[in-house]
Amino acid sequence: MWGSYRWGRSAQTTIPCKHCGKPITAMRSCQQVYMQCEHCNKRGELNDYIPQMDDALEEFMEGVFCDRV
Ligand SMILES: [Zn+2]
Repeated sequence: MWGSYRWGRSAQTTIPCKHCGKPITAMRSCQQVYMQCEHCNKRGELNDYIPQMDDALEEFMEGVFCDRV
């Protein structure tokens, strides 16, 4: 399951960044997931974007939780 699928360390979502309105990217480091905008470089809490969750973010999070050691 390690890297054999399409679970990477980041996923492009369609959720608009709260700062610039462009699609934000979901990122992970170890078990920490956060949102990082590639356009304005702002970093946001995952929880702030949960209400707007799209398919990309949902799948990304499933991958994160499957990887739990
Ligand atoms: Zn932004």
